[in-house]
Amino acid sequence: MSETLHMRHLKPRKLKPMNPKPQEWLAADLSQQYIASYKPFNFVDGEGVRCSLYVSGCKFMCPGCYNKAAQNFRYGTPYTQELEDQIIADLGQSYVQGLTLLGGEPFLNTQVCLKLVKRIRKEFGHEKDVWSWTGYTWDELQKESADKKELLSLIDILVDGRFLEDQKDLTLQFRGSANQRIIAVPESLAQHKVVLWPRLIK
Ligand code: SF4
Repeated sequence: MSETLHMRHLKPRKLKPMNPKPQEWLAADLSQQYIASYKPFNFVDGEGVRCSLYVSGCKFMCPGCYNKAAQNFRYGTPYTQELEDQIIADLGQSYVQGLTLLGGEPFLNTQVCLKLVKRIRKEFGHEKDVWSWTGYTWDELQKESADKKELLSLIDILVDGRFLEDQKDLTLQFRGSANQRIIAVPESLAQHKVVLWPRLIK
């Protein structure tokens, strides 16, 4: 068979997201503590009016990623105390329901996310809620490093799992593909199983 004919018979390789082994990727090795974007007072990143922090860096490399530029751990600008103070001031507005962490990958930027979320709990208790998106699944996070588990323990709602193009569905609430779940974190941790967000419609 000639080379040209042979090439025609090769099926195109279907790209898939990366699948790390437990604790293979650590924020301590990867995070540059950079921020891709901060969007205060938005209505799209979870329930109610929210302040969203987009951290930089993600290694899942999902084909069709909604924020490919933020896969780079040095994309954007460094996280600063000034930005943190601004986020806290914005969250102090009575009409703001809470903080949302997105990326990039919040669980590979735990230095930033843990510091911020701990301060929110200190200043607001549970008056403000915390949502986070992650490419990790719930089960994967249970086998992950202590910093990731600590961040999980401080979050109210987790949207889990890679973005899978073959399960893409733009009609879903707050997520891009059908494998992703909106998980009620305190209830799931207490019951040792995934409990979905009670206000899930679709
Ligand atoms: S996990 Fe999210 S940010 Fe990371 S590559 Fe996948 S879609 Fe992009």
